Amino acid sequence: MKELIEHQRHFFRSHKTKDISFRLQQLKRLKRVLKSNEALLYEAIYADFKKSEFDTFATELGLVYHDIDDALRNLHKWSRKQHVKTNLVNFPAKSYVLPQPLGVALVIGAWNYPYLLSLGPVVAAMAAGCTIVLKPSEIPSNTSAAIKKVISEHFPTEYFTVVEGGIPETTALLKEKFDKIFFTGSTFVGKIIYKAAAEQLTPVTLELGGKSPAFVAEDCHLKMAVKRLVWGKFLNAGQTCVSPDYILVHRSIEQRFLALAKAEIEQENLRVENGNYVQIINDRNVERLEKMIDPEKIYYGGDVDRENRIISPTILSKVSWDDTVMQEEIFGPIMPVLVYDSLDEAVDRVNELSKPLSCYVFTKSAKTKKKVLNEILFGGGGVNENVVHLANPHLPFGGVGNSGMGSYHGEAGFRAFSHYKSIIEKTTLFELPLKYYPHTNGKLWWIKQFFKF
Ligand code: NAD
Repeated sequence: MKELIEHQRHFFRSHKTKDISFRLQQLKRLKRVLKSNEALLYEAIYADFKKSEFDTFATELGLVYHDIDDALRNLHKWSRKQHVKTNLVNFPAKSYVLPQPLGVALVIGAWNYPYLLSLGPVVAAMAAGCTIVLKPSEIPSNTSAAIKKVISEHFPTEYFTVVEGGIPETTALLKEKFDKIFFTGSTFVGKIIYKAAAEQLTPVTLELGGKSPAFVAEDCHLKMAVKRLVWGKFLNAGQTCVSPDYILVHRSIEQRFLALAKAEIEQENLRVENGNYVQIINDRNVERLEKMIDPEKIYYGGDVDRENRIISPTILSKVSWDDTVMQEEIFGPIMPVLVYDSLDEAVDRVNELSKPLSCYVFTKSAKTKKKVLNEILFGGGGVNENVVHLANPHLPFGGVGNSGMGSYHGEAGFRAFSHYKSIIEKTTLFELPLKYYPHTNGKLWWIKQFFKF
């Protein structure tokens, strides 16, 4: 590891990555390489958890291409010197901020969107001009091997390399000095990463998880709300960080919500063989999720096929805050429905939990919208929509508190891997002597006049 990182540091110090044309070239290469290896990438992810070509393109590779195109279009703008005003004390001078790449970056990915969550931050690191060590999640092992193969065949190790492995390999990497660590994964591991980074004072971006609520108010467009929430909840079989974890429905529409959600699931016909549903990633997660399904509370679904690692889309009703399903992030195809009578109380209850990565509110009322958006601190979210905010590169994406720190996507990603160097540039044509010794009363008088203090 040490040698590899030294190698990258040496390359970074050649200043090649600071050249904008180099970065543009690498971004174009990444897109070309991914496109020409799509068949291999589709095959690998299907072998890992039966994710279809459609879903892999729509929720992973398509978004990576979109990110690359956005960076190609905007890189000159993001990386140029930004002039700011100069204050009177420093007159006469020019002041500006210079974005600079942080250096050697470590990107650690999660398993649930193995291409997007590894390569998305890589695009941002490339755009900013860093060198990159990528450690994809080891859990989807075929996907991890495919990323390694594709990248090692087309990029030099000193610029961009993939290290495969799990805890031991990541632990070894974390002992080294990086200039930036970008981590996507659980809050639990996020703390391990943050501690390791603190030892070296390495800046971090932590993209973590948590329980994201969705409020469904009595005045919403119910049919549309249900359609969108069913899509958002069961996409990738619920293994989505911004999935609506639990639904808070106003008591007056609870039964209609449940009936419509059941009808919507049936109409969508969500099944692995239809290409619109995936397996649970491994046996450990099947077991974990099974424990969350209280048989007494199943409104719909609840079928667990352990052998094939498939849990059918499941709705739980009459759920209370003390139920097992409400104790940790679900990260699977279980939709617990809780009812509320007073929005004030529901918001207070959500605020007693950790700050969510996302929060959604379905309503036509400006007052309800304002209350949820203003009174709950969360990473990002939607009004009358869920999940898709992460597909807009103009919206910085990230959590807050237990759901993470820092953000990326579009320019926010470029910023995550950059340092903004502040520069003051003075004229040599003349000098104002006031700051120099001797500090006389006369000079003090002039300073006070000058600044009107
Ligand atoms: P995880 O934390 O178990 O693993 C993430 C990465 O950390 C993997 O590469 C893994 O190899 C590594 N890792 C695991 N244990 C480690 C240890 N002890 N020391 C060092 N490295 C270690 O997370 P996961 O199961 O892959 O992903 C699920 C979690 O990630 C959920 O909580 C989900 O909400 C969150 N997530 C967040 C986002 C986001 O963008 N905010 C996106 C996807 C997933």
